Amino acid sequence: MTRVLLIEDEPAIADTLVYALETECFTVTHALTGSEGLAAAAREKPAFAILDIGLPDMTGLEVCRKLRETSDIPVLFLTARDGEVDRILGLELGGDDYVTKPFSPREIVARVRAILRRGSHAPAPAPAQPPARGGLHHDASTMRIHFDGSPLDLTAHEYKLLLVLMGQPGRVFTRDQLLDHAWQDPGAVTDRTVDAHIKSIRAKLRLTRDGSENLIETRRGLGYSLNPDC
Ligand code: CA
Repeated sequence: MTRVLLIEDEPAIADTLVYALETECFTVTHALTGSEGLAAAAREKPAFAILDIGLPDMTGLEVCRKLRETSDIPVLFLTARDGEVDRILGLELGGDDYVTKPFSPREIVARVRAILRRGSHAPAPAPAQPPARGGLHHDASTMRIHFDGSPLDLTAHEYKLLLVLMGQPGRVFTRDQLLDHAWQDPGAVTDRTVDAHIKSIRAKLRLTRDGSENLIETRRGLGYSLNPDC
């Protein structure tokens, strides 16, 4: 029997998935939190992992990154919103697929089977020379953003914010959109939090190259965008 690790904190979703997988002859280990799931992964060596992105103690992406330190098992992400960031980050981290909620349990089982059928799992290779984008590039394997060749020393929220902006240079993101993408619980912070983090990212860009704080443009009354020409 193939053992699947399911990390999902919503009991109703977890229950339907466990039932659907067990009906299809999978053995399921269910964990409610990232840390619980990682402990189960180390203990039980599952053949497959299904990771919810929004977990109480860490994101599914962080769980994936930690899993990847010791294992290359296939990973299917469950995401609550159809956000580009989740997709990009998840797949760059070596996730094999993702499903946006709401989904049918049968769809999940079909995806798990399809991924397992693909055979020996080859983790998505990180691009050796990612295209330089405004002097900025993202190294997915180390989860760091480099600027003019040097890694930026960013906090987790700064990293996520900058990554959102890098995803679509020139596009204006409102503060609400940035909050939604970079904070797990956007209700707990205010617009001003975004401003403070942008200010800090600009200061760090300036450390690497003078004048580069203008790389992130303030669009008065709208939000922020990454200058595509820098
Ligand atoms: Ca969740």
